Order: sequence, then C-alpha cells, then structure tokens
Amino acid sequence: MTDPQQPSATDRSDAGDRSDAGDVEQHACPKCDAQPGSPCRSRGGAVASAYHTRRFTMVPRLKKALRVPTPADRGPGRPWRPGTPPPAPINPDLPSADIRIGYARCSTLGQELDSQLDALSKHGIPRDKIFSEKISTRVRVRPRFEEALRTAREVKAHAPHCRVIFTVYEMKRLGRDAAELTALADHLTAHGLVLAVPSSCRW
Ligand SMILES: [Zn+2]
Repeated sequence: MTDPQQPSATDRSDAGDRSDAGDVEQHACPKCDAQPGSPCRSRGGAVASAYHTRRFTMVPRLKKALRVPTPADRGPGRPWRPGTPPPAPINPDLPSADIRIGYARCSTLGQELDSQLDALSKHGIPRDKIFSEKISTRVRVRPRFEEALRTAREVKAHAPHCRVIFTVYEMKRLGRDAAELTALADHLTAHGLVLAVPSSCRW
C-alpha cells in the first residue's frame, strides 16, 4: 500500500514537506542508523534539522533534492527519540488474518464455564486468548471482560490489517439488556473490532 515509488497524492505546498519526510522515513538511514518512522539524528544526539542526503536520495523523486528539512512536528533540535515505525505493508496473502479473542462467563458453577471454554476452543481460540470469570449477573464490574476488550483493542492496534473477532459463547454473556449490548456493539465497531456469537440463537 505504501509504495515509496508512488508520488504523493497530496501535493499541496503546505503538505509538501510532511509527505517528503514521510517518504524519507520509510527508509532506515544509512548515515545515522535512524530506523523507519524516526527522524535523522545529529551527532550530538538531537533530532537533525534535515534528513541525511544518503537517506532522502533513497526516495526516487527526492534524488535531486538538495535538502529535505525535518518537519516541525518531529521536533528538530530536541533530544532524539525513536519514532513510531510505519505500519507493515498489508500482505493480502497472509494465511490467517483473523485473530479471535474469547470471553466466557458464568454466575456460579464451574462446570458451565468449562463447557463454554470448550466451545470457544473448538472455534479455534487459543486458551490464552480466552478470558473467563465467575461473576454474578448483578455485578456491574467485570474485570476479565474489561481485560478481554482491552486485549482486543491492543491486538487490533498492533495488527490493523487483521480482523480481530471478539467471540462470546452466548449473547446473554455480554450484557443484561439491549441497551448494554448496543453500547458494547458500538464500542467494538468504533475500535474496528468484530463481534461473533457462535450460538447466537441462545438468549
Ligand atoms: Zn540520518
């Protein structure tokens, strides 16, 4: 997706520097060893005011540029810190782009929980990706549920190209009423997560 050969679509003058910098930062710097996503580093350990020539000339359209300044948002002159590496290019041939996070809950008896865990495992969810708790329906706070959601969001943030599927054994495990379920569905959608309920007919 991020083909460095491709000229930037945004060629407005104000965005010019930024997209130049973005393209340059696709490459590691052979001069100062800055990794992709990071600005160049001066010998004094500060963010360099411009990218090293050997780095920006790796971008074909900048081959003849004399100087590619470091954009202000990278903080030129300030102490250098590694930036965020650009996301890995999307590979459509990835064997499995689905990551499942499971959640199971029961109110008291362990046996019931076990059958939920088995069912989730059969759906291909590794046990360390299944969050479970024994907790009464009347209790509002569900620590493992929150943990499951947090994990799903984190997985999604680290693997944006993957489908992260929040899998619950039964709909009634998620919430007690329609409002709670709607709120959860909205939350999942907002974070790019997918909800799956293998036995969705069982309320
Ligand atoms: Zn450099």
